[in-house]
Amino acid sequence: MCGIVGFTGKRQAAPVLLDGLSKLEYRGYDSAGLAIRDGTDPVQIVKAKGRLKVLEEKTDGGHALSGTCGIGHTRWATHGEPSEQNAHPHCSDDGNVVGVHNGIIENYAQLKEHLMKRGYEFCSETDTEVIPNLIAHYYFADKGPAEERFLRATQRACKRLEGSYAIEVLCSETPDQMIVVRKSSPLVIGIGYKENYIASDIPAILSYTKDFYLLNDQEYAVITRENITFYDEQLHPFEKKYQRIDWDATAAEKNGYPDFMLKEMYEQPSTVRETIGTRVTAGAPTQVDGLDFTAAQLQNLHQIYIIGCGTAMHAGLAAKPMFEHLTHIPTQVDVASEFRYRDPLVDDRTLCIFISQSGETADTIAALRLAKAAGAATLAVSNVIGSSITREADYTVYTHAGPEIAVASTKAYTAQVVLLAVLAIHFAELLGLGAGVAADLKADLLELPSLIEETLKCAPQVKAFADKIHRETDVFFIGRGSDYTTSLEASLKLKEISYIHSEAYPSGELKHGPIALIEKGTTVIGTITDPALVDKSVSNLKEVITRGAKVLVVTNRDVRASDIDTLIRVPETHPLLAPAVSILPYQLLSYYIAKQNGLDVD
Ligand code: GLU
Repeated sequence: MCGIVGFTGKRQAAPVLLDGLSKLEYRGYDSAGLAIRDGTDPVQIVKAKGRLKVLEEKTDGGHALSGTCGIGHTRWATHGEPSEQNAHPHCSDDGNVVGVHNGIIENYAQLKEHLMKRGYEFCSETDTEVIPNLIAHYYFADKGPAEERFLRATQRACKRLEGSYAIEVLCSETPDQMIVVRKSSPLVIGIGYKENYIASDIPAILSYTKDFYLLNDQEYAVITRENITFYDEQLHPFEKKYQRIDWDATAAEKNGYPDFMLKEMYEQPSTVRETIGTRVTAGAPTQVDGLDFTAAQLQNLHQIYIIGCGTAMHAGLAAKPMFEHLTHIPTQVDVASEFRYRDPLVDDRTLCIFISQSGETADTIAALRLAKAAGAATLAVSNVIGSSITREADYTVYTHAGPEIAVASTKAYTAQVVLLAVLAIHFAELLGLGAGVAADLKADLLELPSLIEETLKCAPQVKAFADKIHRETDVFFIGRGSDYTTSLEASLKLKEISYIHSEAYPSGELKHGPIALIEKGTTVIGTITDPALVDKSVSNLKEVITRGAKVLVVTNRDVRASDIDTLIRVPETHPLLAPAVSILPYQLLSYYIAKQNGLDVD
């Protein structure tokens, strides 16, 4: 995820681009860059590591760069640490093609190798840099007018790209022209009078125009200050209707959603898809970049620790049965602030996995240092490239959830659960264990993005239940096995976002005390997804229903019990992956209760 902007017109481009980027900074903020051109003069590129203000200072608010056409980018690194070198725009080796990119090029390593064999040199660690080089490669292999060659070269390059992209490119031989194309990453074109704009999202340019073309996947647009021409995947020109957008600027920044939290929850189908990426393919071994673990190293392990705080620790709990089931290595989950102060039994035959969305969680960093000092192998799971835990751990794997702005972690959690599942499968494959389970899990992982999309359709039902219970002061969540993990995470969301006291219990523990608190009208929320535990879980529900509890059940089974207030059906997936699906109604529940109570969810 990142923000991209483009402009061509009569006025100076750089200040317009910086203004647009400032409204897209929520999409990416580890580095930023501009490429500006003035007629046939060489393109000027300026980049800076850090927040956009560093680039603004470096270019004197854009006034240091003269030119009426340009592109800009604010990055959220996925390949290569945040640095000036890795910041976009990237330029082809010969300097002819300059581009910015949002997304991930999954086959970049093969393309890079292919181009390097042909003498192309690369100066960044990004996946993106293959794009301008491929375009330049095809451009020079072609004949005809420069404008036509540039478009054909862009199309030929895109045909080679696997993954997701929104791309904006300039060619030094076609002044005043920009080409854009997208696949699974957003891109819009704003229409002005004798000037045109490009942006990842509408808000970046909403103060300049209200008229937009919304580009679809695999559509190309060639943009000059006077014209916008659209081409389909085969480069047949076509007409497109523009749309008038009447959002106000704040709504637009959230892409039309009222809050970042809601927007981020609805991003989960794509963030889970991005996190699985090319790591998992049916019928082929799992590929995990950044993890060159050998079978011998794994065989030497006698335990795995998964360590994190809050939601990240819950992702660890969701993963524990995956690791134990698939690798047969005893796996413990610990809270970082406990682990670091209790002299844990870790040694050089322990693998410690540290989970932190930001990679900057102080307790997690301290726990990592302690584990490292004790000789354990350390593996970081983070959403932020180059963050502290990723620099200190022996190995790192990244979730690709994009920046999480809302205070409650939603999309990072599902991405973490999914990534840990990928790791557990990968380890099992290396160890030569659990081939059947691993194959089933892989098939279900690949289906997960569409299951998540389907699950989110329960929102109206969840909202109706939220309307009933938003004034409660105590809520109980119950579940067994991985449904208990979901209960813990659901309870955390409710406390954190809705400010309602809640407790999560393993269902079987109810009778050992807490059931005394269940009385007529008490809200009890049960999760039932594990087929092996349905009957037991239903009995526990009956215990609370008998005491008059108001019950919500989230389940993917055929649960039958009378007097259930609300039953939310979620799609069935592999029991080990259920936490990535069954948590969604609870994320929505905490959101809707908070909204009902007039709270700021972000
Ligand atoms: N994959 C690209 C990179 O790491 C683009 C990331 C983004 O969308 O910001 O540079």
